[in-house]
Amino acid sequence: MDKITVTSPLLPDLDEFHELLKDIWDRKWITNNGTLHRQLEQELASYLKVPYISLFTNGTLPLITALQALHITGEVITTPYSFVATTHSIWWNGARPVFVDIDPATGNIDPDKIESAITPQTSAIMPVHVYGKPCDVKRIKEIADRYNLRVIYDAAHAFGVEQDGKSILEWGDLSTLSFHATKVYNTIEGGAMVMHDAEMKQRIDYLKNFGFAGETEVVGPGINSKMDEIRAAYGLLNLRQVDSAIAARRAIAEKYADAIRDIPGISTFPYMAAMGTADEDHSLRHNFAYFPIFVDEAQYGMSRDELYFKMKEHDVLGRRYFYPLISSFSTYRSLPSAHPANLPNATRLADTVICLPIYHDLTDEQVMRVIDLIRK
Ligand SMILES: *Cc1c(COP(=O)(O)O)cnc(C)c1O
Repeated sequence: MDKITVTSPLLPDLDEFHELLKDIWDRKWITNNGTLHRQLEQELASYLKVPYISLFTNGTLPLITALQALHITGEVITTPYSFVATTHSIWWNGARPVFVDIDPATGNIDPDKIESAITPQTSAIMPVHVYGKPCDVKRIKEIADRYNLRVIYDAAHAFGVEQDGKSILEWGDLSTLSFHATKVYNTIEGGAMVMHDAEMKQRIDYLKNFGFAGETEVVGPGINSKMDEIRAAYGLLNLRQVDSAIAARRAIAEKYADAIRDIPGISTFPYMAAMGTADEDHSLRHNFAYFPIFVDEAQYGMSRDELYFKMKEHDVLGRRYFYPLISSFSTYRSLPSAHPANLPNATRLADTVICLPIYHDLTDEQVMRVIDLIRK
């Protein structure tokens, strides 16, 4: 039987891509804010309903650059239940990550636990919209305003996510996106930063080009993270099909949600379980980037790892995402906030999660194969 991977990249039509490549070859302008780079920024700003966006070569450099641009030092409050790049970006800026536990109903940082982690050294909060589910953005803003902290959202999972008709990327001082091949929308490698005003956009555009403001002036310790024309072309084409990819993902998520309802010991987040039912929260425009399930060993009769390896044996590749927690990697585990006793919810989710295969061209038959395997 064919192998079912956890994800599969959304690819543009090869002939259309070739047409755009011919234009690039004619222009002989292949990077440094080219025509397609500018066009993709415009089209993304409009698609995402945000005023300003700056393209990057991946989703990690905008995180690093965001902290740099806001002069973040001291301590940064963040979540251990994320991809390791979130915490790495804090470390790369010479600041100290402080881990706070998550809300088990969403996987997102628990606002109730943020305040007790704030110290005189705290300068920012870096939450993650885990699996594309919006954080409690209002509560986080209240706390940040009260303590004069900056908020940088790692929105790598939240492409196209809206709450009440507004982009989730509008919250926080800055938000960052990843356009990696494994994400809902991809430019092979790529990413972006979303900001509120033209002045910040200008500053970020300088910083991602070594800090150059004109030929001879350097305004800050910049980095090189410019997206090239070839990936901008690829991104323009993928933008045209991302809505249908999200619709296909939704149909799969609804099938999974429906199926696991009757499997004792297998659950997902309540918001995900409600997708396609009368309880669905219609104020949320979700992107179905991931479909996490949680395995209760006692009830299910098999541990998460047993199920994960059984799936693998049958050529169905899930992903234990996020496992291990960032706070348990050797680089970070000696931090006082990294102790598992400080992070019970994150620890439990990391120990029980499997993200199921979900992508635009996963067939009904493949979805049934995944479901049958979990049913035993
Ligand atoms: C993918 C991802 C990143 C990193 O993005 P890259 O484009 O791979 O550099 C950062 N944070 C989260 C939460 C991610 O999922």
